[in-house]
Amino acid sequence: MTGFEPSDADLSPADAVRRLSFYVEAGVSEAFCEDAQNRYQQPDAPETETPAAADARSPELTGRRAPISGRALSGRTLSGRTLSEQTMGEAPPPAFRAMPQTIAVDDSEVVAAARALAAQATSLAALREAIARFDGCALANTAKNLVLDEATTSARVMLIGEAPRRDDDLEGQPFAGEAGRLLDRMLAAIGLTRGDVYLANLLPWRPPGDRQPTPLEQAICMPFVTRQIELCAPAVLVFAGGVPAKHMLGVDTPLPKLRGQWKDYRAGEGQQGLIPALTMFAPDYLLRHPAHKRYAWQDLLALKAKMEELPKT
Ligand code: URA
Repeated sequence: MTGFEPSDADLSPADAVRRLSFYVEAGVSEAFCEDAQNRYQQPDAPETETPAAADARSPELTGRRAPISGRALSGRTLSGRTLSEQTMGEAPPPAFRAMPQTIAVDDSEVVAAARALAAQATSLAALREAIARFDGCALANTAKNLVLDEATTSARVMLIGEAPRRDDDLEGQPFAGEAGRLLDRMLAAIGLTRGDVYLANLLPWRPPGDRQPTPLEQAICMPFVTRQIELCAPAVLVFAGGVPAKHMLGVDTPLPKLRGQWKDYRAGEGQQGLIPALTMFAPDYLLRHPAHKRYAWQDLLALKAKMEELPKT
């Protein structure tokens, strides 16, 4: 992603460590080449915008970075080599190469390993232990903590966010920071407490710098999310934000069209069947766009009404 600046040769070891920490915090994941590249002078930059660049400009992602590469942060594969090691020796990638969206064979092995591990877990506690042992997602190396709800019993509502942020990572709890405090107030407004809701994320580890998860990271961690749904068996699902909604529903519909809509989520094979799923704005988005809280209020009322309508088991 970057090379050192010429002045970096004069850095003291302590400053070098600080500089590297900054790069990691900013989401830099790979050193592509030794020398710094002037991206503005690359001859073959495509004229069209990549989907990642378009995503990065979406209102929901204001102020956040697009993923560097679909492969950039994937982990060690079953063949025993990291994806970085597998690509070493190849010609350095040209700048502005479109983000690879497909999952390579070895990556599919990692996804299959995650699926097998998740399937073996017969309780939320066992699933937590299995995820803690899983070494197929390199985000586990940069995150400070595994971030999973500590609840071991099922809840009627399960809310799925995108990924843990800084405070969540520090505390090892989903929605632990300011966004979580807003979420608590939102739930309280319809008579729910945090204990009434199982909180999950597409990823159980924080992506560096709170960047958007890559498609590969989402694919690797998906079996852990679907297993949490199966084990929690909620009556209702809530997708907090466009990224979880699109990923869980397998659609590419823009968030403004998905928000406030009830869709059926199919859980497991022959398991609970269809679970009604509501898409809402994410609490951290609402912190940045407080005027949209009125839509969140409508959605909370719809959630309350749905819960009253569904049988209490
Ligand atoms: N905190 C989380 O745990 N998930 C989000 O999506 C946002 C904040």
